[in-house]
Order: sequence, then structure tokens, then C-alpha cells
Amino acid sequence: MRAALLAVLVLLTCAVPAGAQDAPNIWFAGTQLIFDQAEMRAGTVAVGTADTGLQRFLARLGATLAYEPGQRYVVITTADRRTITFTLGDAQFTVAGASFRAPFAPYSAGAQAFLPLFALARALYVVPIDAGGETVLQPQLGALDVHNVGQTVVVTLRGATPLHFRRLAGDDGQVELLFTGVASTLDQSRIVGSPGLSQVTLLAEGTPRNPSTSVAFYGPADGVHVLGPSSSPNELTLIFAPAGTPLAGTPIPDEGDAVASVGAPAVTPAFTPPPEPSVPPDTSSDEDGDQTAASPQPGEAATVASPSPVASEMGAAVPAVVTAIDETPAESSFSVRVAVNAPVAYEWHRLLDGRWYLDLQNATLGIAPLDETPASDVVSSLRVRQMALQPIPVVRVAFTLPSDLAVDLEPSDSSLTITVGASADTDVARTGLGQIGDAGTIALAPVSSPLPSATPAAVATPWKFAPRTANAGLIVIDPGHGGSDSGAMGNGLVEKDLTLDIAGRLRRVLEARGWTVKLTRYTDVDVYQPNDSAHDELQARCDIANNAGARLFISIHVNSFTSSDLNGTTTYYYKDDSLPLAQAVHRHLAAALETKDDGIQKANFYVIHHTTMPAILIETAFLSNPGDAALLRSPTFLQKIAVSVADGVSDYAGAPPPPQTSMDIP
Ligand code: ZN
Repeated sequence: MRAALLAVLVLLTCAVPAGAQDAPNIWFAGTQLIFDQAEMRAGTVAVGTADTGLQRFLARLGATLAYEPGQRYVVITTADRRTITFTLGDAQFTVAGASFRAPFAPYSAGAQAFLPLFALARALYVVPIDAGGETVLQPQLGALDVHNVGQTVVVTLRGATPLHFRRLAGDDGQVELLFTGVASTLDQSRIVGSPGLSQVTLLAEGTPRNPSTSVAFYGPADGVHVLGPSSSPNELTLIFAPAGTPLAGTPIPDEGDAVASVGAPAVTPAFTPPPEPSVPPDTSSDEDGDQTAASPQPGEAATVASPSPVASEMGAAVPAVVTAIDETPAESSFSVRVAVNAPVAYEWHRLLDGRWYLDLQNATLGIAPLDETPASDVVSSLRVRQMALQPIPVVRVAFTLPSDLAVDLEPSDSSLTITVGASADTDVARTGLGQIGDAGTIALAPVSSPLPSATPAAVATPWKFAPRTANAGLIVIDPGHGGSDSGAMGNGLVEKDLTLDIAGRLRRVLEARGWTVKLTRYTDVDVYQPNDSAHDELQARCDIANNAGARLFISIHVNSFTSSDLNGTTTYYYKDDSLPLAQAVHRHLAAALETKDDGIQKANFYVIHHTTMPAILIETAFLSNPGDAALLRSPTFLQKIAVSVADGVSDYAGAPPPPQTSMDIP
């Protein structure tokens, strides 16, 4: 296969592939892709950024590639605004903040960078399939996200290519859509359990070259459903609710496309802070605890409203690009000027441990990330990087300050100057919002918009914001196993002891940063009762977090396997609202630990499924592997785990809210 593919690539690079009909080729969407700048590397195809076949492929997917000769980074932005970042010389690459490993490290040759074609394709929801000696790049229905918003369910489907559907005849209450041109490897069935939508099933059919996928939604016979606005043609939003619920959207037609604001002028909505409800949101029917979009209030939502740019997700807006970072060290101050090509909103946070950071909302980094120690007494580190959290990209500028120094922000039309001064900060504020560029020139809601203000917020509020809970400053840490359940054992190590040790360290770091922390167990005990069932034991751990209204839930485990070969660190999440937390924490774990990076995985573990707040489970290392076991014996390593998890929590959640003033704590 390797030799044959190489042979045809040689042919392709020479001229028209005459006589190559019986050799393997690469096909996409019914046409042969001719790569004129491709070569073999590590047994797979490396393709140059200047390759016209690659450019055609990306254009078909609505993706854009940014690379300048001399840069270390190649950044691809997908049609649904995910950011894929390759680093020259590093086989690790990131997709929307999660890291993956390619078969070889991208490299530069001449004025272009060479990328692993198939790894890039997969990140674009396109899967290479071997079809009778030919490689077919098969577009996928790559994601199906379900968000419960009170009794309303918002389903978002994302495809590699623009999604076109035909509605199939179904029973009352059933909506079945057939998508042609896309296959799917997603779960075949998912219980939603909401009054407006009970279940979703998927069936992939067809051939490698002509795939199709039908998606069936099952709800009550008198349920209501509409097509909601989408941020790109590759994305389709469907909204389901029980009878009588007013829904904003258009009726689902017999045949159609995503209702995207395509062709509408680019809109950069101002940053919307998370909703601050005066009463706690209704969580009764919200099993996944996903209350990130405000529930439309009865009587407020329009019954039917035509799609409008303002109702699109924030991801619909073209992100601003950070075009330059200029540093100006002075005697007793340090200034950084952040230049952008379009108006952009920002928020900043000061953490208790001297870190200060600013997030540019809906912005991409057009220059290489920075991580340096400036020649300055007032700033001990400066980092600028792409956070790439869905649904909007975020660029973060972060300082470590040796003490509580004043930080002045001076926005102009096209830049923001951040000055760290030598004077101690007398301003008690630890967070704030602002805007670069004239927000007045940005098209926000059209004045004549028929949509009441509550409706766009219901769709547009990004879900990276944690739900408001009864106790927004509380984090529950779950040391896995305990008491009659030792967990894994091997190499002289016992899982229940290690998890308790790490949890205690994590608790101390988080408390030092201002969080309130509760452990599901503080000693070597069963949380429910000795020798209980796994269900009772695990539900008891969930109950502690759910009943306390915790902001986040973090379960600590140590892995084990029958083969001592397996090693590494994995962060698991289950609910979609937990992915950003998993990404933030895993980034720090992968960077700080000497273990193998086994990545982020979605898995239906009980405690991360049945807790109502964003929840993750970390398999810190394999005690069955001699190398990992040696690390687990080192207190330095256990402390590194704790600090990395806490750093991820800070990235995800910012600073904890100010403590409650009420003195009702005994
Ligand atoms: Zn375990």
C-alpha cells in the first residue's frame, strides 16, 4: 500500500495521471484529489500548505489555512469555527483545545509547511476509508450535541460539509432527517429523556463513496419542533419542546439546509457576561445540569421569528485576529500592546496567586504564541496563546506578577495597551470587561428586530460559562475508591491511598486560591457503607456534589491494566458541558507531567454522568506500569498533578466568586 501510494503520488506530481486508473487514488466527494505538493512521511501522506489539491479540499469544507514562511504554527479554522493548530517539529496538534498525536511532526521545506493529510482530514470530520485499493476521504456527521434548556432541547448537528437534509415520513412525534453525502461513527442511540425529546437514533448507510446518515428524533406526538439558526452551513440546529411551548425558529421543511446567516454582514456581538438570574434557574428537568443558555421565559419568546443574524451563535461572527504583540519594558513598568484587526470584547481576571489574564472574546491568534520571561522586574512571565474554546475562539494574554501590582488597560480603535505598574494595586476589583474598537460601529441587533431581547440570549450564550449554582465557589473532589474498595493495586501501590493523597493536595492548592473545597471522603472509608453496591457507593458521591450545588466535580483515579505496557494520563468527561473543563485541565496535565499523554476521552462513568455540574474523571497514571508506578511513588509528582488540575480549573473558571457575606455557616 505504501509503495503503491507513493508511486501514484509520484505520477500525480509529474503530470496528468494517465494510465493510473488501476492504482490507488485519493478521492473526495466524487472527484479525485490531485496533490501537487505531497510526499510520503512515516508511511503516510504529507501534504504542503501550498498544495492546490489541499487548498481545494479545504475550500470544499469551508476551512481556511493560515501559514507564513518562517512561522512555527499552521492554524486551520473550520467552517464551524474550531481551530486546528499544528506546530512544526511537534507531532502533537490541537483541535479546539484538545490535543492529538499525528504520525509525524509537521515540517517546513522551502516556503511551505508539510502536514499529515489524514490527521488533518479527521480533525475536519473527514475519515479516510480504504475502498478497494482506493482511499476515499469520507465526510462525516461529526458531532451531535444536545443541550437541555429547561424543558426545551437544542440539538446541534455538525458536518464536514454543508448539511442538506430530506425529511422522511415518520410517526407522530417523530422527526427523521436523511443527510446525504455524510457517514457517521457517532453513537447509534442516545437517550435524552426530556419532555420534548426522549431519544435520538442515528443510522449510517450507503457506500464509502455515497454515504448517507439518517437521524431520528423521538418526542411526544403533540410535541413542537423548529429549525433554529446555525452559525455555519455545516451546522444544523433543531429545537424540541413539549406541546404549547413557544419556540423561535422556522418549521422544519421537507427538504432543506442549515438556516445560517450566510451572506449576512459579519456581526461581532459584544461580549455577554453570564446571566445573573435573580432566582435560581429551574433544574428539575435538566438531567445534565446544562443550564448554560438562559431558558426562554413563557410569553417572552416569539412564536415564530424569521432567522436573523442577531440570533446566530457568537460563533457566526468572523473572529478578530490578533496581529501583533509589542512589549515595552521600562524602569518600573512593563507595557504590552495587543493589536487587533477588528473590534473585540475582552474580560480580565486577577487570581489570588499573582496571575493576571485577559481573554479576547471571539479572536484568533495571527502570530506565534508567546511564552517568555520578559526583561522586567514587574512581570515574571508573559504568555499569549489561543485558547480555542468552543463555540468561540479566545486569545488569552497572561502575566505572572511578583506582587499585587496595578494593571492599567487603555483600549484604542485597533489595540489595547496593558501596563503593569510598579505601584501596588489599590483597586480591589479582580475581574472586569472592556472593548477594543468602537462598539458603536458594530452591527448589533437591528433596531427593527422582531426578536425580543431574551430570545437571542437563549441561543447565543456560550456554554463555556458554568451554570449558576447554589454554591458557585464550591468544588467537590472525589478521591476514587476507599474503605472496603481498594481500587487497583500493584507495584506496591494501592489506588485508594493515592487518590486520597492527590485529592488532599488538590484541596490545599484550590483553597489557597480562594475556592471552597469539599471531598467526598476525607479518610479511608466507603462513602455510602462498607461492601455496598457500586451504584449506591457512586450515587452517594454524586449526591454530595449535587446536594451542595457545587460548581465543579473532579474525580481522581489511578489506572491499572493486565498488561504492564499501558501507561499515561487520561482525562474523561461525559456531558458536553464538561468538555471545556476537561480540555483546560488536561492541557495543564499534559504539559506538566512526565507521563504519556493519552488525551481526553468521552466515557460514561457513573460519577461524571450523574453529577449535575461540569464533571471530569482523571486517570492520573497506570500503577501497573513500572515507569508510571515510579512516578506515583514521588510526592513531587503527586503535587504536580494537584497543581496542574488547579491551574486547569483557574483557566476554565477564572477566579472564585467573592465569599458570601451571610454568616449562616456554622
Ligand atoms: Zn479507580
